[in-house]
Amino acid sequence: MNFRIETIAYPSDFANTYFLIDDLRVIIVDPGSDGSSLAALISNRGWKPLAMLLTHGHFDHINGAEFLQKAYRIPVYVHQADVIMLDNARLNGAEMFQFAGDYAIEPKPFYSDETIQIADIAIATIHTPFHTPGSVCYYLKEQKVLFTGDTLFKGSIGRSDLPLGSFRTINSSLAKLQTLPGDITIYPGHGPKSTIGKELEFNRYFKLR
Ligand SMILES: [Zn+2]
Repeated sequence: MNFRIETIAYPSDFANTYFLIDDLRVIIVDPGSDGSSLAALISNRGWKPLAMLLTHGHFDHINGAEFLQKAYRIPVYVHQADVIMLDNARLNGAEMFQFAGDYAIEPKPFYSDETIQIADIAIATIHTPFHTPGSVCYYLKEQKVLFTGDTLFKGSIGRSDLPLGSFRTINSSLAKLQTLPGDITIYPGHGPKSTIGKELEFNRYFKLR
């Protein structure tokens, strides 16, 4: 599969929504952006959505998922441990920002480190809990791409002090990423992309380990 990646965040303080595009087929990672804006972009481009992948259950990563699932009838993949967050505005953080947040998303849950098969595309999941119990990174080995959600940012990591977060699993989760090849490009939930190699060198959370 030869694909390209497009990014939008709308509103701009929400998470990056990534489109993984192969010809006209598209997989949507973290549809946190406004659902009708995402749908407008999808129909503008003539894309055919195959599935949505959630890196975790926070509202700024899932806010558009209900709208898109109703529009395109596609599966929403999420780690089993974050399923309880989807319709719970307190757990998914929406409450704090006066969002409704009780999303009626029909999830397709998976378990730790499963590989997801979407049509002919295999996507490995790396379970990296601490930001939330079901936080994962999605790994496309052949393409050297890793979607890291709020686990790993350029120069930082996600917080572990939100509801359901746990600082105790930071080290074991980062250790999993540390073994990946340095030339992998990371696409974080917020902010610009980077590489595993650069983060191992400059990210102080790796240095502290
Ligand atoms: Zn988050």
